[in-house]
Amino acid sequence: MTSAEGTVLLMKEASGGEAPLPPDPSCLRVTDGVSSVIERSSGGAGIRNVLNDRFLSRLEQMVPVLRDEPMTRHTTLSIGGPAAAYAQVTQACQLRAIAGLAREWEVPLFMVGAGSNLLVSEAGIDALVVQTWANAATVRPSDAADPWPTPKSTGLRSAVPGSTCPRGANPGTAGVLPAREEEGPAAGSRVPPCDPEAGVRAWVYSGAPLPRLAYEAAGVGLAGLEWAVGIPGTVGGGVVNNAGAHGSDMAAVIRRIRVTDGRDERIIEQGDLGYGYRESNFRTRWAADPPVVLEVEIALHADSPKAIRHRIAEHAAHRRATQPGQRSVGSIFKNPPGKAAGWLIEQAGLKGRRAGDAQISTKHGNFIVNRGRARASDVNELIRLIQDTVKAQFGVQLELEIQPVGEESS
Ligand SMILES: Cc1cc2nc3c(=O)[nH]c(=O)nc-3n(C[C@H](O)[C@H](O)[C@H](O)COP(=O)(O)OP(=O)(O)OC[C@H]3O[C@@H](n4cnc5c(N)ncnc54)[C@H](O)[C@@H]3O)c2cc1C
Repeated sequence: MTSAEGTVLLMKEASGGEAPLPPDPSCLRVTDGVSSVIERSSGGAGIRNVLNDRFLSRLEQMVPVLRDEPMTRHTTLSIGGPAAAYAQVTQACQLRAIAGLAREWEVPLFMVGAGSNLLVSEAGIDALVVQTWANAATVRPSDAADPWPTPKSTGLRSAVPGSTCPRGANPGTAGVLPAREEEGPAAGSRVPPCDPEAGVRAWVYSGAPLPRLAYEAAGVGLAGLEWAVGIPGTVGGGVVNNAGAHGSDMAAVIRRIRVTDGRDERIIEQGDLGYGYRESNFRTRWAADPPVVLEVEIALHADSPKAIRHRIAEHAAHRRATQPGQRSVGSIFKNPPGKAAGWLIEQAGLKGRRAGDAQISTKHGNFIVNRGRARASDVNELIRLIQDTVKAQFGVQLELEIQPVGEESS
């Protein structure tokens, strides 16, 4: 079975989003981007206590599994020791099945989206690491009935219950959404008038890349994700961190999410996610045993593709002008109230400081870049330097935005 068929299978599942995703063993064993079962990638620290061969052979029946897989390959900073076991999944049903297996065998699970907010230690992660990153933004309309969109299409177009607007159409005169019935067609327009307040809801696989989703939404005249084009993460990672930029964030786009703890699936409404500035219950109340995000229901609104593309171009230009292009993990620290962390770091004279191959960016003080073979310990050294210096000079305690992960190196 191809992954495209798998996409359709997933999409054919529950409409309305309330029922749990039905069992679908046929969606398993879809490789899409992962080559094959590989014995051990590094042979480094050795298989840890959390895994056993019977569990691994069960897992390998579902997805390709890599053992002692270096996390340098799966983080945007290219830093990190081995994951005891690593699997990449591309569909919600795979994710659900693997979460169930891990729960059954009491194997700790660590979820990775794009690894764009993680600082993984040199000792690595003593868990089954499951990465959700998928090349496509798999989407199914919230109220979908068959037929589903053709595989490879975003599905967002299909989420729109009518034809898309002509490019450049103005919201209010012509648009993505069909007119409310009482409005009738606008004079002189061959397409129904657009209701700029109206929108579309769709379920998105948690491993969908945020920028891809944003661009595809723009292409069909759906606004609300323009801020996300420069964030190299997944929808799931964005849900956990309440990722945001340019005055908006995930909290503004999400309606609800579908999660599993490996036993049960449930829907969590946006209002119960504990959202704050780069904060959610995943990182606080649920941090000890966070649920796995399978799908996310987003709500987007209609606007002209031209206007959306214009906003995207502005955001992208701003990023190019202010952020380094080297490997990084985005902003290291949250902005303290009323101040920008990057400005404080710059004022403290720390831009350009190095530890090994890690460097505080010369372009943006709140970024640490990997200039070659930086190690987590190098990044941690710079983090301590920044925190100590900024505290001493400004009395401000900078709080991490990134997430350190993994065993402490001895
Ligand atoms: C160049 C650059 C620019 C950036 N700019 C921004 C920005 O403007 N704004 C911003 O907010 N962030 C920014 N970031 C940081 C990062 O991209 C975001 O935090 C993003 O939301 C992380 O998503 P991810 O998929 O990479 O998650 P990861 O880093 O892989 O994981 C983050 C957390 O989410 C959890 N997680 C991931 N997927 C799931 C799932 N399916 N179920 C349960 N838990 C899951 C992980 O366990 C982890 O706790 C930037 C990063 C880079 C490298």
